[in-house]
Amino acid sequence: MSVARIVEQLYPSYGQAFDVEARVFALDTGFQKLEIFDNALLGRVMTLDGIVQTTEKDEFIYHEMLTHVPLLAHPHPKNVLIIGGGDGGILREVLKHPCVEQVTMVEIDAAVIEVAKRYFPGHSAGAFDDPRLNLVIGDGVAFVNETDASFDVIISDSTDPYGPGEALFSADFYTAIRRCLCDGGVFVAQNGVPFYQLVELQDTARRFAPLFADSYFFTAAVPTYVGGVMALAWGATTPALRLTDLSDIMARYHARALQTRYYTPAMHVASFALPRYIETAIATSR
Ligand code: SAM
Repeated sequence: MSVARIVEQLYPSYGQAFDVEARVFALDTGFQKLEIFDNALLGRVMTLDGIVQTTEKDEFIYHEMLTHVPLLAHPHPKNVLIIGGGDGGILREVLKHPCVEQVTMVEIDAAVIEVAKRYFPGHSAGAFDDPRLNLVIGDGVAFVNETDASFDVIISDSTDPYGPGEALFSADFYTAIRRCLCDGGVFVAQNGVPFYQLVELQDTARRFAPLFADSYFFTAAVPTYVGGVMALAWGATTPALRLTDLSDIMARYHARALQTRYYTPAMHVASFALPRYIETAIATSR
């Protein structure tokens, strides 16, 4: 028996509705409005400023694809940087790779981490206790502008380009990211649902082109990021990573003894195949 109905008003004329079985938690963190509720179909749901961030039911899709595509395209990722990712799902997946020696995670809002640990324990599944983690509470933009560290893989798991996440979609941020990438490194970032947010994808394509020797997108179908496939941005220092053979990806997947529920090496390769309208949008944005 639902106690309320929440509408995620993503666009002026379109949104998605959730029947609320129970309101679990709500907090204005000082950075954003954090709400958690239970839904009969999706399990526990977190929103930030009214936008769905993650659900128990489908979180594995987004977290596996945004993590394993770059980490398996790279032959030996040792140092990884996560920007955002407060729910811990990306961190959980990165730490599955035994070759990873250190993960630096820069999250602006400590409350998201603490609340997610309590109400979404399956997301981090103990990852915040891993000795390889270097947790930084702060703004991802400031971190990449100030650090002298370099990383093999950088993952931006941010909110959408509004509020504290807006700066994580800027040319200045991407320029600083490129400076922090090792030779042979790759940067990936969530870039919204292109069927409705094609301009955001074009903005990223235009900003990536002068910075990365190889910039493109790959996709994943995340049910609660409503509107078709989600675009994941790709910026690498060499085209070789995106062109990694299926056989090499399979060999790495098995050598690292990874267990996944959505990601497969074949899905990895297929995720770079884009619909014509997205290819055209990329080509005309540069
Ligand atoms: N998977 C979700 C998605 O695709 O929409 C996002 C997951 S996670 C909840 C997004 C995180 O980005 C939040 O914890 C938020 O606090 C963090 N964040 C937003 N702006 C940030 C910034 N400038 N620096 C670091 N973290 C930021």
